[in-house]
Amino acid sequence: MHELGIVFSIIKQVEKVAVENNVTSVKEVTLEIGEVSGIVPKYMTDCWQWAVDNRSEHMKDCHLRIIPIKARTYCEACGNTYDTVTYGKTCPKCQSGDTYLLTGNETYIKDIKAI
Ligand SMILES: [Zn+2]
Repeated sequence: MHELGIVFSIIKQVEKVAVENNVTSVKEVTLEIGEVSGIVPKYMTDCWQWAVDNRSEHMKDCHLRIIPIKARTYCEACGNTYDTVTYGKTCPKCQSGDTYLLTGNETYIKDIKAI
């Protein structure tokens, strides 16, 4: 389960921002998680509570909000953009395999709410 490692790395980044901005308590962190990033949002929230209570200075009781990002793939052969989860690497319009992922593989911190 690599979600715990990701949670630690997010806490580290948020803690750094908190210190730089003289924030005493971070109340909510919003994460955007790509559909095909390999991260399971449920595992993230499971790790989160324990991690903020035990491994953070300024994030006790901090709430984690997750916004999923839809995965989209672009077809170089016909210029079509389609749903990655439904069709995978083959373009549903022209059956070409000459495609690449546009969005859906990324994870980033979108918003930090603090006091
Ligand atoms: Zn195509």
